[in-house]
Amino acid sequence: MKRIYIVILIVILGMGVTMPDLLAQTAIEGTELVEEVPEEKTYWQIIKEGYEGYWGYLKSEVTFNYDYKPWWQNYFYGLILISLFFMLLEWVAPWRKDQAKFREDFWLDTFYMFFNFFLFSLIVYNAASMVMVNLFNDFLGLFGVTNIVAIHVESWPAWAQLLTLFVVRDFIQWNIHRLLHRFDFLWEFHKVHHSVQQMGFAAHLRYHWMENVVYRSLEYIPLAMIGFGLEQFFIVHIFTLAVGHFNHSNINVPLGPLKYVFNNPQMHIWHHAEHLPEERRFGVNFALTLSVWDYLFGTNYIPHEGRDIKLGFPGVEDFPKDFVQQNVHGFRRE
Ligand SMILES: [Zn+2]
Ligand SMILES: [Zn+2]
Repeated sequence: MKRIYIVILIVILGMGVTMPDLLAQTAIEGTELVEEVPEEKTYWQIIKEGYEGYWGYLKSEVTFNYDYKPWWQNYFYGLILISLFFMLLEWVAPWRKDQAKFREDFWLDTFYMFFNFFLFSLIVYNAASMVMVNLFNDFLGLFGVTNIVAIHVESWPAWAQLLTLFVVRDFIQWNIHRLLHRFDFLWEFHKVHHSVQQMGFAAHLRYHWMENVVYRSLEYIPLAMIGFGLEQFFIVHIFTLAVGHFNHSNINVPLGPLKYVFNNPQMHIWHHAEHLPEERRFGVNFALTLSVWDYLFGTNYIPHEGRDIKLGFPGVEDFPKDFVQQNVHGFRRE
C-alpha cells in the first residue's frame, strides 16, 4: 500500500514539470478568492480556463517560472519546506518517544497533503468554483447588485489588511469546524480527519475533499464582502499552514501564556480524543490557528496531559483505511 502512495506522489510531482506547454500561462492562485470572470464568456469557457489556468499555475510553481509575485512566494516548495521542518523536529525531539519515525499512515497522509493542497484544486475545485462565483454574480445581477463589498479596508496598510484577513478568516473557519462536528452528515466527512490514530504533522491535511468545498463555499461570501486592496495573501496562508502542521506534530513546545492565543499540539491532541465526557460530545478545542476562540466561547478542554490518550472516535477501528474508501465514505447511506 505504502508503495502505491509513493508512486502516485512521484507522478504528481513529475506532472508539474513535464506537462507540455499547451496551456495558457494565466496564473490563478489556488488558495486566493477566485476573481470574477468577464461576462461574455460561456460557462464552458470558464470551466476550460479554470483547468488550464490551474495547470499553468501548478507548473509555474514547480519550476519557479512566474513574474506576477516575488520568487519566494511559492506554495509548492513552501509546503515541502514546512513539512520537512516539522518532520525534523519530530525526529530530533519527539513528544511520544516510542512513536516510529514514519508513523502509522505517514504515507497516506503525505498523499493527502498534496492532494488537498494542490491536486484537488487541479481536478475539480478551480473550475467548479469559477462557475459558482459566476453563477453567484449572475444571480446578484438579477437584482441589480454588481458589488457585495460592504467593508472597505483597501486603503489600510498592508500589514493591517493581512492581519484582518487572518483573524476574520480564522474565526469563520472555527465556526465552520464546529458545524462539521455538530451535524451528522458533515461529521461523516470530517471523520476522515479524526480517523488518525497516531498523531504527526502530516495528519494536518488528512481530510475529506468535501471539507474543501464546505470551508471555501461558506467562507466565500463573508470574505468577499470585505474589500481588500492586496493581491497576495501568501504570508497568511503559509503561516496558517505552518501552525496547522505544528498543532498535529509529535513535539512538545510549552508556549507559556501564548497558549491562550495560539493553538498547539498539547491542546489539539484533545480535539482528536476518542472519548469525551457526555456534555462535550460535539467536540472540544475547535481551534485552527487561534486558540483564543475556544477560551472565549468555553469550548477549551485540557483535563490533563494528553500525550498518550487514545485517538479517534467510537468505532474508529471499523473506519476505512485507504484513500479511496475514505473518500467515498460520507456519501454512502447505510
Ligand atoms: Zn474536528
Ligand atoms: Zn486535527
